[in-house]
Amino acid sequence: MEQYYSPWIECAGLDSLRAEQGKRLGDMVKRVYESVPFYRERLDGHGIDPESIKSVDDLSRLPFTYKKDLRDTYPYGMFAVPKERIRRIHATSGTTGKMTVVAYTRRDLDDWSEDTARALVAAGATKADYIHIAYGYGLFTGGLGMHYGAERLGAVAIPVSSGNTARQIDILRDFGSNILCCTPSYAMYIGEAMSEMGIGPDDISLRAGVFGAEAWSEEMRLEIQRMFGIKAYDIFGMAELIGPGVSFECSDQSGMHVNEDKYIPEVIDPKTGKPLPEGVQGELVFTCVRKEALPLIRYRTGDIATIWRENCACGRTLIKMSKLRGRTDDMLIIRGVNVFPSQVESVLLDLGLPPNYLLVVDRVGNMDTMEVQVEMTPEIFSGISTVGDLQSIQKKIEGALLSTLGVTTTVKLVEPKQIARSEGKAKRVQDNRKF
Ligand code: ADP
Ligand code: ZN
Repeated sequence: MEQYYSPWIECAGLDSLRAEQGKRLGDMVKRVYESVPFYRERLDGHGIDPESIKSVDDLSRLPFTYKKDLRDTYPYGMFAVPKERIRRIHATSGTTGKMTVVAYTRRDLDDWSEDTARALVAAGATKADYIHIAYGYGLFTGGLGMHYGAERLGAVAIPVSSGNTARQIDILRDFGSNILCCTPSYAMYIGEAMSEMGIGPDDISLRAGVFGAEAWSEEMRLEIQRMFGIKAYDIFGMAELIGPGVSFECSDQSGMHVNEDKYIPEVIDPKTGKPLPEGVQGELVFTCVRKEALPLIRYRTGDIATIWRENCACGRTLIKMSKLRGRTDDMLIIRGVNVFPSQVESVLLDLGLPPNYLLVVDRVGNMDTMEVQVEMTPEIFSGISTVGDLQSIQKKIEGALLSTLGVTTTVKLVEPKQIARSEGKAKRVQDNRKF
């Protein structure tokens, strides 16, 4: 039986949901107009009368907010409440440049705990569970975001934070962790270390994992599920909106339900800015309709996905978004072809190789080149006896990459353990091109 944390919202009828969204949107636009000089200027500049925003249909008339706007008003210029009302500060991990600072009121923190509690429940967590949190604790939203969701649910939070993989494994086993929360690449790392120590699924009590903060493929899901003997669920979020828990997977594992009572998603054509119909891939844009400290209007996430509404088998009516392809700024353009690191990951896993790789991009003359450094497993490595063996593995991977990516790459096989492991978000690309 599927459980819900907030059934009245997660399974709400569409009409009542839209009515509530429209009301919250109108209130929010009026509030930022009054309290954030940046928004007053931007709305005035677009000739928008805040009083005219009454329903979700008015959303597309509103101007976008960009990451650059947060950077230009760094650190506190976009906050919509006086300092006395702020209870916590976080910051983005700065994957794509200067970090941005985000803030929360007491109510924002409560809302966020509710978001992550919903995600944990959708992954099958109950009050009786030990929730092992191996996301980093600190300015990064992952650790504390999941932590308070676990406590809110009434479960036991184990705040391990990231790092010290041997200790993670001791804790998993000795404390009887039931649910693991971390980045998918760190889950792979822990799983790999576990099997090296001779510890298998039967030696631990894990049932499920809630993994997010970076893109991961279906193949990687299967691999993680196999390594730990668990169900692996995706969770999406970003500091600018709240942190993890903007959307989450349910038992159906076929897309993430958006907590759309708080964050309204749209998918737009990144070039024209026009909203795209359901099911068409484009850039995700979110509007916060409940946030107090930092409510963003039509925030351009740079993430690529599709959204659609369906009668999900889990019973939730919340709109769904697909797994992410990656972010627009992760996308490499190699000789005019768009390449996402996640595609390389899928190919490797399909071939039975672990997704330990690094893409080294360069330009020779006017030609982009991409070298894919692929780490061998100890088994494959010890089975290689001639140069011919090595070349045939290389050729096989190059062939598979060419047919998936549509662009020629050079594969370089490297010895086991040569590619750096990540305890947080993995770094997959080294771009040496000078633009
Ligand atoms: P930064 O932007 O500095 O990395 P955040 O830690 O807030 O800061 O990261 C948010 C970003 O992480 C999202 O915009 C998205 O690109 C990525 N992300 C978060 N969750 C997922 C997920 N489940 N799948 C893919 N990407 C994700
Ligand atoms: Zn569902």
